[in-house]
Amino acid sequence: MPLVSMNEFLPKAKANKFAVGQFNMNNLEFAQAIVEAAMEEKSPFIYGVSEGALKYMGIEFTVAIAEAAAKKSGLPIALHLDHGSSFEVAMKCIRAGFSSVMFDGSHYGLEENIELTKQVVKAARAMGVSVEGELGTIGGVEDDLSVDEADATMAKPEEAIRFYEETGVDCLAIAVGTAHGMYKGEPKIHYDIIQQVADAIPVPVVLHGGSGVPDEAIRLSIAAGVGKINVNTENQVACTEAIRQALEASATVIDPRKYLTPARNAMKAVVQEKIRLFGSSNQA
Ligand SMILES: [Zn+2]
Repeated sequence: MPLVSMNEFLPKAKANKFAVGQFNMNNLEFAQAIVEAAMEEKSPFIYGVSEGALKYMGIEFTVAIAEAAAKKSGLPIALHLDHGSSFEVAMKCIRAGFSSVMFDGSHYGLEENIELTKQVVKAARAMGVSVEGELGTIGGVEDDLSVDEADATMAKPEEAIRFYEETGVDCLAIAVGTAHGMYKGEPKIHYDIIQQVADAIPVPVVLHGGSGVPDEAIRLSIAAGVGKINVNTENQVACTEAIRQALEASATVIDPRKYLTPARNAMKAVVQEKIRLFGSSNQA
């Protein structure tokens, strides 16, 4: 199966109250762990690729790996640019074979964000590529993106609804209290904002910063209208901890496969658990 747009599965997610996971790809082992978990669960999923990961892996390798996963698994998989910062980078990804892009104009004012997102939607739609927009500022650190928690502002529902109506995005990330990275305490999620926005628009709300959010909070978010959840940090932690353990267990190990195999297994377990929690098992 070729890579697909998020519209292959997000409408069904919204209608049937489950969420599709966006799991970020940072290298080959991440990509393999994610697709192996999804194959066992028969779940659709999204490979998220940040601009930093794109620089690290190279755009050709990124697309080739995702296409190989789609072909091997037969699953509906979207290859999605995460937090795209410009029209140019979104177009570069689409040209290279991405099936989905996020344009993150949240650091612009509302009017400019709408204007810029509209341009991306117009070009992407012509290519059958789905688009995620963002409104409000999600706190925390991801890649080169760093937002002070104090500067993180909740999305205003009426602005989010207007944003959707004017841009026609396929899903909408709104700041509702989650943050990128690991949480110090428990995140306070504003379910009322999710519900108000999700009830008023036909596309799902996206929850960024899904790592470390308690299971019950994830369930409540999905019930309120979240249909896409982003997970990256938990896989990074699982990967690094497994490698650290393997290296600490043996001072003489030199074969990367000896520590990358447990790392890949650890990530697979994380992804499988998330897919079950999100309710997307057997939805492929
Ligand atoms: Zn994010």
